[in-house]
Amino acid sequence: MRTVLGAAALAVAVVTAAGGQGRTPAPTPDIKVDQAGYLPDAPKVALVVSKAAGDTFVVRRARDGQVVFRGTLSAPVADANSGDSVRAADFSTLTETGAFFVDAGPAGVSWPFAIAPDVYARAFYLAMRSFYGQRCGTAVDLGPEFPGYAHDACHRENVFHPTSGKAGAKTAGNKGWHDAGDYGRYVVNSGLSTGTLLWTYEMFADRVKGVRLNLPESGNGTPDILNEIRWNLEWMLSMQDGDGGVFHKQTSERFCDFVMPEQDALPSFVIGTGREPFKSTCATADFAAVMAIAARAYQPFDATFAGAALEAARKAFAWAAQHPDVLFTNPEGIGTGAYGDRDCSDELLWAAAELWRTTRDGPYLEYFTGHYGAHLARIRPAGPAAWGQVAPMALWTYVLGGGTGDAADAIRKASIAAADVIAARTEANGYRTSLVRTDYVWGSNGVAANYGLQLIVANALAPNPRYVTAAGDNLHYLLGRNTFSLSWVTQVGANPFTHPHHRPSGADKHAEPWPGLLAGGPNGRKQDPAMNGMPDLPPAKMYLDDQESYASNEVAINWNAPLVFLLAAQLPPHK
Ligand SMILES: [Zn+2]
Repeated sequence: MRTVLGAAALAVAVVTAAGGQGRTPAPTPDIKVDQAGYLPDAPKVALVVSKAAGDTFVVRRARDGQVVFRGTLSAPVADANSGDSVRAADFSTLTETGAFFVDAGPAGVSWPFAIAPDVYARAFYLAMRSFYGQRCGTAVDLGPEFPGYAHDACHRENVFHPTSGKAGAKTAGNKGWHDAGDYGRYVVNSGLSTGTLLWTYEMFADRVKGVRLNLPESGNGTPDILNEIRWNLEWMLSMQDGDGGVFHKQTSERFCDFVMPEQDALPSFVIGTGREPFKSTCATADFAAVMAIAARAYQPFDATFAGAALEAARKAFAWAAQHPDVLFTNPEGIGTGAYGDRDCSDELLWAAAELWRTTRDGPYLEYFTGHYGAHLARIRPAGPAAWGQVAPMALWTYVLGGGTGDAADAIRKASIAAADVIAARTEANGYRTSLVRTDYVWGSNGVAANYGLQLIVANALAPNPRYVTAAGDNLHYLLGRNTFSLSWVTQVGANPFTHPHHRPSGADKHAEPWPGLLAGGPNGRKQDPAMNGMPDLPPAKMYLDDQESYASNEVAINWNAPLVFLLAAQLPPHK
């Protein structure tokens, strides 16, 4: 790791600088900054909502309070999704590195932020390492950096549920990541999450391969990001039945209480559909896509593992192609997440595309070219990829993998058209997020991160600095430049959220939650009892930093994965 200015150090610096005569202005949430910071060569904008603000602002050096930039606030933008009137403080031409804060006179001062080439290195490290914290089936210890953030080996009673058509203990591959605030493991949600992390490695290997995550496997010659991903891949492999089909999920029959994972005594069941063929299509096709990517990524480090992943992917695709419509709903007596998806054609397309990219085999190409047209409209200006809609990944991997011809032309064109609309909308939005009103759903922060991914991929297909800026804007939104002035990543920034719906964070003895976790974020639909007590506010304001609010403050691997991707895109090449 490079040296990064920590949040604590920055906060102390501001107190000193506030200085002058011993006066200590507390940062105001009315001035919003990316609390991790800004890249020296990138646009730098703070946002001001205070009615007390004048027309000017300055940026001060945290160390000595010296003014390093003077600017004028923009005209206010009425932000309909939050109800806020937002003015921009643009200090893009400030390229000095260090720690700073915005001072808007009578409106107050911002939380501190840094300007540096590696300003997102710490956030990347924590966000990617949070997957290690989610490991199941083993003891976890975040080490001296986070003393006591640890749990013993968990969920060691692994059993085939009667709905799987099998019986007895499941003996192998009891690894994987706890999915979210709960301790379940779900192949469908693992699909997009693990695929996104593998894409992070494939697209940004020069930036991420040297980042040491301080894992038990660190130093084994394999990049740590791949070491961590493998923990979940080995669980996914264990969910494949002998005929190639893949079971949908492995969870207890109901959610456990808010206890540490090793204190959850409920058996972990492999759960099937309850009748022949017991496995489900979406899980099997997602599995095939992920294993096909893994076959590429691990080839230089462990050819045997890569070969096994490819074989598993081929068998899974064959099964899914033969059983294209086996949907999953929770069997009677099962109360954990269903991750039910009514249409598995996008998962099948993704599997075919990734298998083609890995093998160049004709039948996968034929499947792709025969089906992609029906999915083109899923690369769209509103509504990025999500666990139930992976068609964009299928379409993009075809072009990123060297696909040519009409399909590649159409995919590139659709990607540019969508990204142009998203970038323009982001530039015009008060908070400069790509989210539209209907995006403030359960996990809206994951939607924002996936817009970022969409823009970065569009930039890879057709380079355009506007796409990169808009992607960075979504990151700024997540790291503090939002209506709450909260960093929505635990233990990142000077004012992060603190009460995630996350069992280890709630059950352990520490005041601070486990680090590196992205909050679900504002949810205009009031989908939990805690939110039901809220007044009706604009959707961007419908959020509670409250452990009870699972519909706005849970964490999940499918939200953290695109955050990791977006952060990796902003890292400097590793030396
Ligand atoms: Zn576990």
